[in-house]
Amino acid sequence: MYLNELDNFHFDLPDLGTAPQVAVPNAAPDELDLSALPIPAASSPVGNVDAPQIGSLSAADEELFKGVIAKYFSDEVPSAPSSGSTDDVQPEKKNCLLKDNGFGIGIPETDIVRNLHYDEADTVNTEEIRKQFPILHQKVNGHDLVWFDNGATTQKPLRVIDGLSEFYKTDYSNIHRGAHTLAARSTDQYEGAREKVARFINAPAKENILFVRGTTEGINLVAQTFGRKFLEKGDNVIVSTLDHHANIVPWQQMCKLQGAELRAIPIDKNGDLILSELEQLITPHTKFISVGHVNNTFGTINDVESIIRTAHSHNIPVLIDGAQSIAHTKVDVQQLDCDFFVFSGHKIYGPSGIGVVYGKKEWLEQLPPWQGGGNMIKDVTIEHTEFNEPPARFEAGTPNIADAIGLGYALDFVQSVGIHNIERHEHELTEYARQQISRIPGITIMGNPKKRVSVISLDIPGIPAPQVGQLLDKEGIAVRAGHHCAQPALRALGYEMSVRPTFAVYNTKEEVDRLVIALQKIVADVQNR
Ligand SMILES: *Cc1c(COP(=O)(O)O)cnc(C)c1O
Repeated sequence: MYLNELDNFHFDLPDLGTAPQVAVPNAAPDELDLSALPIPAASSPVGNVDAPQIGSLSAADEELFKGVIAKYFSDEVPSAPSSGSTDDVQPEKKNCLLKDNGFGIGIPETDIVRNLHYDEADTVNTEEIRKQFPILHQKVNGHDLVWFDNGATTQKPLRVIDGLSEFYKTDYSNIHRGAHTLAARSTDQYEGAREKVARFINAPAKENILFVRGTTEGINLVAQTFGRKFLEKGDNVIVSTLDHHANIVPWQQMCKLQGAELRAIPIDKNGDLILSELEQLITPHTKFISVGHVNNTFGTINDVESIIRTAHSHNIPVLIDGAQSIAHTKVDVQQLDCDFFVFSGHKIYGPSGIGVVYGKKEWLEQLPPWQGGGNMIKDVTIEHTEFNEPPARFEAGTPNIADAIGLGYALDFVQSVGIHNIERHEHELTEYARQQISRIPGITIMGNPKKRVSVISLDIPGIPAPQVGQLLDKEGIAVRAGHHCAQPALRALGYEMSVRPTFAVYNTKEEVDRLVIALQKIVADVQNR
């Protein structure tokens, strides 16, 4: 089910009458029993015994090994650098002839990706899913942890934790410039992760995918490269009032630098963008539109399709900040027709420190390099540098190799559950929570967006949000309390801060019930003061 179909979706919510009645969780939850978790014993000997050891190779193996290295070099380095072209460098064709060491290594990662069978099950088996997240099985302040801070970051499944550990134990090397076996393995896995990302968002090719540190760095990359080349005095850029600071500040800085103006699509009291205003904001000097897909404070799903259509009718390129949408709904960049799409690995069950910029080929080819250094060059003299093609042009220096690979594992996890199933599960939880919380007198839910996902912002008049956050923490419930890096959005609705529970695939209705009971207690305490 896609988000735009959810309007027609009916939920059977229990009729709770006027007084809130929520299930009281069992008094004594089970003790944390880590042995019950399916954490596989380390299946690989540390210091992989199968790894070729130079110096101890048989003559035949040595020939094979030399062949691999020769092939690797012939692919890596253009034979005639004076031609100035690396068009014949096709890293995805680089098959290294390595033995499978039990982790699928030796098979080019690209083939592994193609052969993966993703099971799009019909329902989300929360119990099974929770077993894959060891961190959830602990007590905080004497209570089972409830992780409702998913809008800030998501927890990691074993697939990611163990995958990273195995990579560091067996294959880790720097990439691209390597002349040896581990460099080839690491390069294959890093480029394999790029291909997984491309497939996940339906990019035309893996060359459309740049690895960066996260959404923030991705938007800075686009703002700075596009801004330096295309923004001039008197131009303007459009963002939205709902946007995260990461989509406001980089554009504000670039506009200041170039003498351009930053404009923002306004919002209404429900927390919906007033899209009828967009046409009035656009002028012949509008050079770029950059907007969020899903808002992180009210959970608003913006009608980005319509924004992109309007922008393109004026030949204006569009960046979509997908930090809050990527883990919650199907993203198809070709269907959206956005020019750029940016997201962070850590909000989709992947590692922190890794993120993605998708860019259309024609834009990536036009944009100047961002940072200078190794890997982003074709040829360097002291006077002059010839830059590499995208994506290498935008990945100067040693990248975050392991976490890119870890992000690939996170996407495997999401696909094994099915993004539509995740979306449905979270939508049910969100609407259930809204319903239950709205029945507690003394609590205000901020905004009421038409289409929304995963996020609820609350206000309890009489108690500052951070204090509510601390009281919930005493009950083992982790929520965000503050301005969520979205001050213009909160202020537009008359608030400075909110208490924000956000939901993910591993959350349950029982956890929502615990939140509701805790909130009821907090409100009762305030009223009895
Ligand atoms: C979290 C978030 C960002 C920033 O992501 P980082 O991972 O901190 O770079 C940007 N936009 C939105 C909507 C977000 O929720």
